[in-house]
Order: sequence, then structure tokens, then C-alpha cells
Amino acid sequence: QDSAFFRVPKENSFAALPTDFFTRIPTTPLKDSILVHANPSVGELLELGPRELESKEFLNIVSGSTPLPGGDTLAAVYSGHQFGVWAGQLGDGRAHLLGEVSGPRGNWELQLKGAGPTPYSRRGDGRAVLRSSIREYLASQAMSGLGIPTTQALSIVSAKDRVIRETVESAAVVARMAPSFIRFGSFEHWASRNAPQQLTVLADYVISRFYPECLLPEAGVTETGEQRYVRFLRAVVQRTARLMAQWQVVGFCHGVMNTDNMSILGLTLDYGPFGFMDAFDAKHICNHTDTQGRYAWHAQPAVAHWNLYQLANSLHVIAPDADALRAALDTYDGIFLQEMQTRMSAKLGLGVWQLGDEALIDDLWSLMQANHADFTLTFRQLAYAPGVAGVDTAQASRDLGGTVGPGLVPFVDLFIDREAAIAWLDKYQARLRSAPAQDSGARVNGMLSVNPLYVLRNYLAQKAIERAEEGDFSEVQALFDVLRSPFTFQHGKDAYAAQPPAWATTIEVSCSS
Ligand code: AMP
Ligand code: MG
Ligand code: MG
Repeated sequence: QDSAFFRVPKENSFAALPTDFFTRIPTTPLKDSILVHANPSVGELLELGPRELESKEFLNIVSGSTPLPGGDTLAAVYSGHQFGVWAGQLGDGRAHLLGEVSGPRGNWELQLKGAGPTPYSRRGDGRAVLRSSIREYLASQAMSGLGIPTTQALSIVSAKDRVIRETVESAAVVARMAPSFIRFGSFEHWASRNAPQQLTVLADYVISRFYPECLLPEAGVTETGEQRYVRFLRAVVQRTARLMAQWQVVGFCHGVMNTDNMSILGLTLDYGPFGFMDAFDAKHICNHTDTQGRYAWHAQPAVAHWNLYQLANSLHVIAPDADALRAALDTYDGIFLQEMQTRMSAKLGLGVWQLGDEALIDDLWSLMQANHADFTLTFRQLAYAPGVAGVDTAQASRDLGGTVGPGLVPFVDLFIDREAAIAWLDKYQARLRSAPAQDSGARVNGMLSVNPLYVLRNYLAQKAIERAEEGDFSEVQALFDVLRSPFTFQHGKDAYAAQPPAWATTIEVSCSS
């Protein structure tokens, strides 16, 4: 049965899995829900236009007041390691999978976050607060705009219901979409129960739908199920390593990289106490609750590897060749380093990789670290650094929309030790001059296309949240619009690109959400 506008496929594929993978459980409606924002780009993935997104029927579905017609509302079970410690069973404690929806670019699972308790809520209330929902909503768009794999946020609604955290806050629901919300922890769940049958069903489901390439036997090799699971692990290793490189080069810190927050599809999943770094500090911890810095920026790639190890451990139940699994895990470092090298080279506009580039890049990180230089602006403004490879920076700046505009500090001025910055720039310029003739305009354009000007800085989100808590959603809208095109200079939006005010460092983001 189709709704007026959602195209619901005949099959809810996750709901067709054995019933011990989930619990059917209706949402608990909120009081007087209002739409805070709906994402037109994500709406397009479902062929929903502005009229549909503003309709009452849409609001009813994405607030959890009425089920998705043709859907099958359920909460999934999973387990996981939290902060490196086995936590046992977790599960969708405040998420409801409404069903599968199809669009021109494939099928999407539609999930509500904050629509009431489930059997997996433990001591939680099944709700989400407006504050963290706005952060998840905007972050999903920010990551999407940056071209980083992520769950998509379709809408955010706010309601009259009060939710108790450290203070009393208002409730909200985010509707989010992904081809699948299966996590590493979904596999750990069955492995911990030594349930090879369920693990096989789960792995075969994920492989057949999302990793069909793993079904193809290598030429001349007779396929066994076990080889397929090893190949699957290798594919997840690759996607995860790439995702980590994508996070690192924009200064994104996830904050809670527990195995239950690791998407089996290599998507950024579960936006909690995440943060885009302002001043660079390799040991930056965005989650106030993470006192040990387990999930600090510099630790993320190694933590992802550790999490993959837990996934491999789970797959070991159905793929007993430990050496083959280990070999798949061992590809992680090589892929990550290659992905980093490619991306850093593009960020600096280096062209073909040369001996010495690694040292040049390391020196830049050290310089940023010593000076607590702004992460985003350092890379963005490097394209406009004076005298670089003969670029007429004033001209380039005019051509490209005048990014060194009012309020934006030029590269050298991002460093307290300007002399050190100039010394590094000299080396950088020498490196560019030594490269085979590279069109400097093309180089600058290339750099601007990979180094964002606008990211979801904590303090920008905070300002939008404070307004929204007073019922004014205009700043959510404004920030959303800016984040849709993070690489493109936008007139009159300098305030969204500038270095943060001093109070930004006092914002504390915790797991409370
Ligand atoms: P997280 O650290 O946000 O990934 O959450 C860890 C676990 O706690 C997951 O199983 C969540 O579903 C659950 N959880 C978090 N907040 C709540 C809440 N307010 N109510 C019920 N369950 C929650
Ligand atoms: Mg989670
Ligand atoms: Mg969470």
C-alpha cells in the first residue's frame, strides 16, 4: 500500500529477517509536533517536493504520530563495545525503523530517533532533545555537503513534551535515512551468543544487498561461504579506512566510536557529542564524557581498526580461517595511509606525489599544532597564501568570490608564530615550483574544491540551538543553507566562516542527548 507520496516497496527487507533480530513496537506520539525543518535534497531522494514536505501527512509520519503506510515499525537489537569494554546487549533504545522507502537512487530505510521507548531502552526514556537533534540534523547535511558518507537527515520536528536531562529540555524527533542501519554491533550481538545461524543470515543479507561484489568468486577459485565472509570483511575494512581519512582531513571528531555506532556500510552514524575542530590539536577530545581521550581526533583511525577487529572476531564464528581474517584486517593501515596521502596531496594542491611531501605535510601539522591554528581556515587560506607559485592572489581572490574577505584572516595570520608560518610557506612554494608546470589557477581551484570554507562549528550550532529553544528556527535554516555548499564562497556569509569567538572553547558537549 502506497501513501499519498512515499513509494513503499513491497518488501521491508530488514523486517523480513528472523524475528529475533528486532521487536515490532509502535512509536509513542509527541504533543503538538511542529516541523522545524525538512531537507529538500534528501526529500529528492524520495521524490518528495516542497509541498509534500510541508504537508500534514508528512509531519504525522516523521513525528511518529502515524505509522508509515506499508511500513513495519520495529526496533533492532544489537550489542557492542562501549569505550573499549564489552557492554552486552544494547539495541535501538530510541530509534524506530518505520520501513523501507524507494526513490530514484534506490531504497532507503526510514528511521525515527526519539519517537519513544522500545524494549532496548534500558533506563532511557526513548526521547531525544531538540539540542542534540538539531546537531544531528545539521551535521548530517554538513557531512553530506562535504561528500563524506553519512546517514541522511530528512526532517526534524519539535514538540511540547518536556524531556529531563541535566535540565528540562524540549523533545524532538529526527527522521533519518540510510540504505541500512546495521552496525558492527549487530554482528557482535550474535557472535557473543555463539549463534552461527543468525550470523550467517545477517552476513548473507548484508552481502547480498550491499556488498554484491563479495559474492563473485575470484577467477579460477571455487567459492566457499567462508571466503565470501573474508572478502566481506576486506570490503568493510576498505570503506571504514576511507571514511576515517575523510573524517581526519576535515577535522571531524565523532566522539563516541563505540562498535554499536560503526555502520557496516562505512557511513558516519550516530551524531552525539561530535565536533569539527576549530583550533587544531591532534589530541582534541570533543566528548566531555571521554576523560581518557579514547576517541580523540588522532586516535580515531586506530580505534576504527580496533572496532574492525571486533567485527572480524564476530565473523570468525562463521569464517574459521583466522589467518585469512587477519590478513583482511592487515590491509587497513595501507588503505588508510593511501587515502590520507591522496587527500592531503589534494588539499595542498601538490599534484603528483614527490619524495619529501610527507615531511612537508608533517611540518604543516606540527606548525598548526604549535600555534593552535584554525583547522578549516588553515587549509582554505593556503590556496590564497601570498606569492604562492606566482598566483596573483588578489586576482584569484576576486575570481573565486573574494574568500579573503572581511573577517577572514590570511594564512600567515592564523599562526601566532608568523615567522614559522612564513618559513613553512617558503618550503611549500619551493615544492610547488619544483613540480612540472602546473596551472596555478587550476591548482587553486582544485584546493578550494576540497578544502571547505564552512563547517558545522560547535558555536554556530549552539547559536542556532539557543534560538530554536526560543521557538525561532531561522538560524537552523540559515546554517543549513550555508552547509549545503561548504566549498563555495557565499556572499554575506563571512560570519559562518570566521574563526570562532573566545566563548566557543567553553562549550561542553557530552553524551547527554
Ligand atoms: P549512543 O551512545 O548514543 O550510541 O547510545 C547507546 C545506547 O543507548 C543505544 O542502545 C541507544 O539506543 C541507547 N540510548 C541512548 N539514549 C537513550 C534514551 N534517551 N532512551 C533510550 N535509549 C537510549
Ligand atoms: Mg548509538
Ligand atoms: Mg547516540
